[in-house]
Amino acid sequence: MDCLFCKIAAGEIPSAKVYEDDRVLVFKDINPVAPVHLLAIPKEHIQSVDAVDASNCELVGYIFTVIAKVAKEQGLTNGYRVVSNIGADGGQSVPHLHFHILGGKELAWPAC
Ligand code: C5P
Repeated sequence: MDCLFCKIAAGEIPSAKVYEDDRVLVFKDINPVAPVHLLAIPKEHIQSVDAVDASNCELVGYIFTVIAKVAKEQGLTNGYRVVSNIGADGGQSVPHLHFHILGGKELAWPAC
């Protein structure tokens, strides 16, 4: 499968890794839009939140435990945002499930 984030997860394309285990990778977004902008991805290919089902929901829940741990390690003690864009209207440019972790400043809302 020709998937950019599968290649990053496999180490075939380099990334600035912040956290890694056998199931999850967190790395710095190449085009940050906040002082802290990380991407948390499953190493297994899942297209988007729209493809979360009974077969992979334990992994997705696990990703959120990693996100909370990494946010603490990054010093995001005053809050942060987790975003997952889904499909064309959602602004998803990479079709591999990923969660943006945004923080390090007071973030504006709404985002649209
Ligand atoms: O939600 P969306 O699919 O648009 O997010 C993809 C993100 O992946 C973007 O924020 C982009 O900057 C990031 N990216 C990256 N490294 C790449 C390609 C894209 O961090 N090699």
